[in-house]
Amino acid sequence: MCKGIFENKNTTFMTELDDCIIIIKNVPSQVCKQCGEIYYTNEVEKQLEILVNIVRNSITEITVINYAEKVA
Ligand SMILES: [Zn+2]
Repeated sequence: MCKGIFENKNTTFMTELDDCIIIIKNVPSQVCKQCGEIYYTNEVEKQLEILVNIVRNSITEITVINYAEKVA
């Protein structure tokens, strides 16, 4: 673990499930300026989990959603 400076930045979250890929764009996150490591707050992590669970049953291969549009 480095001790770089973190900056608030929107990033793209991607997760691979059994036979599909879910991409969530514009996710609020903290990015380490030094190593590029991405961290999410607990709340964002929870929202990502919810979004993934919502779409995973209704997609075939790849889906791209926009975090900002899905989370009020
Ligand atoms: Zn770092």
